[in-house]
Amino acid sequence: MKTVSSLLDEEWHERYRNISRLNIRSSIYDVTDRCNLRCKGCFFFSSNEHKVAHEETDIKKWGTFIDKEMGRGVNLAILIGGEPTLCMDRLEAFYKRLPTFCATNGIIKVPRDRFPDLMVGISLWGDEEDEKTLRGRDTFSLSSKNYEGDPYAYYLYTITPKQIGKTERIIKKIQDVGLKVHMQLLSNDEGVDGFFWEPEELDAIRVEMDDLLDKFPDTVISSKHYHEIITTGKMLGRSFGWAECPSVTEPLDKRKPRPKRLINFIRWASDLQTMHRCCTSETRDCTTCKDGAAHMSWVMVNKRAHIRTTRDLQNWIEVYEMFAKLYKFIPW
Ligand code: SF4
Ligand code: SF4
Repeated sequence: MKTVSSLLDEEWHERYRNISRLNIRSSIYDVTDRCNLRCKGCFFFSSNEHKVAHEETDIKKWGTFIDKEMGRGVNLAILIGGEPTLCMDRLEAFYKRLPTFCATNGIIKVPRDRFPDLMVGISLWGDEEDEKTLRGRDTFSLSSKNYEGDPYAYYLYTITPKQIGKTERIIKKIQDVGLKVHMQLLSNDEGVDGFFWEPEELDAIRVEMDDLLDKFPDTVISSKHYHEIITTGKMLGRSFGWAECPSVTEPLDKRKPRPKRLINFIRWASDLQTMHRCCTSETRDCTTCKDGAAHMSWVMVNKRAHIRTTRDLQNWIEVYEMFAKLYKFIPW
């Protein structure tokens, strides 16, 4: 029988042991229903998730709610929205209690005197032209000033089909401001013309992402197994989609058979009572979903399937390490 020990040498085994003890239990929180941008393709606004609940404004209720979440075992709070930095008091309520990650467009700076080591993921949707088309402004010019050299911030670069052949310039820009970058793919939830992925474009961007990782290993936080999975939607011969997705809110998950999934995962709306279906858009077609975190988690919850060959298990370790770095559980 194949075992972890039989497949790994001492160095890889040590890496395996380092991540095995982490036991990450994440959930996602809509901090607010508002944003200072309205990007075309934003999964939150395009699926009207901002209308399903009225945000809770009593900060004491946020505190009580977070305490209850910790009581159910959550040890990583992923804050999204809307734009979480519009509500610093809610951000602080999480940050003071447990490991917290804040997804932001980077326009408003998280004050480092108040949040010295809060992990911040800054969204970036391409070059200046794409950003103006999709988001109405070039956010990089602002976010890069706000976070230049910040050891607890990185860019979450959402690659669009129009970025093929142009990604290296973006990575260099990020490297030049002293930040790291993680890549994911646009799902184009609002059907913007020219931003759908064709199969040959996915092939091309996979090659490009692999090349970026080779050329910028100190800047790009990624793994080739992740690139393969996100561009092909396949893992070890299985297809990503509703039947396999690990990031479905647990109390709403009625799938049979139930796939391997994130334990106790819930995505909460900002009223602190309503639950959303999954980590991304309520209305998104799972067959075209490119959500990076869901794909990453799909690998992570399927460890057993990767105990097949040395390379498969190493791939699993690399994806898990990538996730752990992005949420500050292990150093870059
Ligand atoms: S910045 Fe984020 S939350 Fe705001 S509109 Fe854009 S994608 Fe949506
Ligand atoms: S839209 Fe994506 S993240 Fe949501 S359930 Fe479908 S596959 Fe999973």
